[in-house]
Amino acid sequence: MGLTSDGLAMKFTKTNPLQAMRIYFNSHPTKKLKTMFTETSLQEFRSSLRGTLIEPHDTGYEEARKVYNGMISKKPRMIVKCADVADVMRSVNFARESRLLLSVRSGGHNAGGLGICDDGVVIDLSSIKYTCVDPEAGTIVAGGGCTWADIDHATHAFGMATPSGIISSTGVGGLTTGGGLGHLTRKCGLTIDNLLSADVVLADGSFVTASAEKNADLFWAIRGGGGNFGVITAFTFRLHPVKMVYGGPMLYELTEAEAVMKWYRQLIKDAPDELNGFFAFLVVPPGPPFPEHLHMKNMCGIVWAYSGPMEKAEEVFRPIRSFKKPALDLVGPIPHPALQSMFDALFVSGMQWYWKADFVKELSDEAIKKHIEHGSKVPTMHSTMHLYPINGAAGRVGNKDTAWNNRDATWAMVIVGVDPDPANRDKITRWTKEYWEALHPYSTGGAYVNFMMDEGEERIKATYGSNYERLASIKGKYDPENLFRVNQNIKPQKQSKMNEVPA
Ligand SMILES: Cc1cc2nc3c(=O)[nH]c(=O)nc-3n(C[C@H](O)[C@H](O)[C@H](O)COP(=O)(O)OP(=O)(O)OC[C@H]3O[C@@H](n4cnc5c(N)ncnc54)[C@H](O)[C@@H]3O)c2cc1C
Repeated sequence: MGLTSDGLAMKFTKTNPLQAMRIYFNSHPTKKLKTMFTETSLQEFRSSLRGTLIEPHDTGYEEARKVYNGMISKKPRMIVKCADVADVMRSVNFARESRLLLSVRSGGHNAGGLGICDDGVVIDLSSIKYTCVDPEAGTIVAGGGCTWADIDHATHAFGMATPSGIISSTGVGGLTTGGGLGHLTRKCGLTIDNLLSADVVLADGSFVTASAEKNADLFWAIRGGGGNFGVITAFTFRLHPVKMVYGGPMLYELTEAEAVMKWYRQLIKDAPDELNGFFAFLVVPPGPPFPEHLHMKNMCGIVWAYSGPMEKAEEVFRPIRSFKKPALDLVGPIPHPALQSMFDALFVSGMQWYWKADFVKELSDEAIKKHIEHGSKVPTMHSTMHLYPINGAAGRVGNKDTAWNNRDATWAMVIVGVDPDPANRDKITRWTKEYWEALHPYSTGGAYVNFMMDEGEERIKATYGSNYERLASIKGKYDPENLFRVNQNIKPQKQSKMNEVPA
C-alpha cells in the first residue's frame, strides 16, 4: 500500500478497518517532516527486538532520555536500548520507513545533546558494552556502547592502552567519530589514528565493515566526520604498551599566568612525544587532595601526562619543576586508568554545560593577554578553559589522511562554562561567549566538532575545510537522504551516475 499522502489516515482506516488502530502522523517541528507509523508496525518492531523499546508512558522513560548536559531536555518518541547489531539494523529500518528523526547515543556526553532528539527514535547503544583484547595482536574490539572506563579497564589488565579523552565516562562512539583528544595524543595520535576497523550499520539498514582494506572511503570519513555515515556497532583499536604514566596537575598563581603561558607555548612544541600537557584556567575544588589554603582559588595550571619509561620521568620533569616552583605539584606515577578517571568525580552527569571552541596555531603575546583577562575570571568551580596539544604524533598525520582536517594546529582550545545550578546557566554561558569572542580572532576559524554546540553549517564547513567536499560526496553515497543528521551535519552531495567518490 502506498502510504505517503496527506489523506493517508483516512484512506488507511477505510481500506483496512480491522487493523485500525492509529496512524501516528506528526510534523517534526524543525524539519516539517511528515512521520508515520501504525500501532501494528510499532508492535511488530517492538517484538522484533532483543533489547527494550521505551515510550513516553513507560517507566524508565524519564531516566532514559537524560543526557550528560543538564541543559538538554529532549523528548524522543521512543528510545531503543539495542541489545545487538540486529536491533540496530531494525531500528535504522524502522526510523527510515516511518520517516522519524533518528539519533544515535553511545555515552550521552555530547554537550549539544546530539545523542538524543525530539519526537524521533533514539538508538541507544549503551547495552552493547563488550570488550575483547587480543594481547598478541595488540588490539581491542569494543562494542559501540562502551565508555572509555570500560576500555581502559579491559586494556590495563594487559599493560596496554589506546588514546582517548580525559573523562572516562565519555562514550567511545561520539569521542572516536569526532577525533579523540586526550593524555596520549602526543605519543599515540588521536583516537581515530588508532582505529583499525569499524562495524557500521548504514542508512539502508545494511551492515558493513570499514577499514583500510574494506570500504576505504567510509573508513576515511568516519575518522573525524562524526556520526554522519552510520551507526558504529564495534570499534577495533590498536593498543600501546602504556600501564603507568607520570602525571597529574601542577598549579600556579594567576600572577604567574603570563610567564607560565609563554614558557608552556614553546615547551610543548619542543617536548618529546611522550610528554603531554594541557594548559588550564580553573578554580581549585574545595576538597582533598587540594590543600585548604588553595580551595576555591582561581588559578592556572598544566595537567601533565608522561607516558615514556618511568625511570626517566623525574629527569623529564626536572626542567619543568625548575622553571618556577608551582603552588601545587600533584604530578607523580599513577596507573593510566587512574589518570583517565581523575576528574570523573568532579564532572558528574546532569550539570549545566555550555562550551565553545577553536583550533589555535600560535599563542601570541596578545592572545595570552586576552586569555589572562578572561581566564582569570572563571565564574564557577567547575568552569574552565583548556588548551589541548595536537602536535607530536597527532600532528604528523596528514590533513587528507583522515577527515580530521586540523593537524597543523598546535592546540584545540575549549572554554567550558559548567555549574550544577540551573540558575547559573546565563552566567556560565555569558562568560564562555565573551571569552570565546575575545579569542576567536586568534584561531584558525574552525573548531573540534566534539567541542561544538549547534553552531550552524558555516562553522562545520570552516572546521572540515578542504575535506568538506569529499565528506559531502561520501555522505551522498552512504546516506543520500541524510537519515543521520542529528550530529554536526554534513549535507549529502548528489552522486554522479557512477557513484564515484573523489580520492
Ligand atoms: C565531561 C566531558 C569531557 C570530555 N572530554 C573530552 C576529551 O578529553 N577529549 C575529547 O576528544 N572529547 C571530549 N569530550 C567531548 C566528547 O568527545 C563529545 O562530547 C562526544 O560527542 C561524546 O561522545 P558520546 O558517545 O559520549 O556522546 P553521545 O551524546 O552519545 O553521542 C554524540 C554523537 O556522536 C555520534 N555517535 C555516538 N555514538 C556513535 C556510534 N556508535 N556510531 C556513530 N555515531 C555515533 C552521534 O552522531 C551522536 O550524535 C568530553 C565531553 C564531556 C561532556
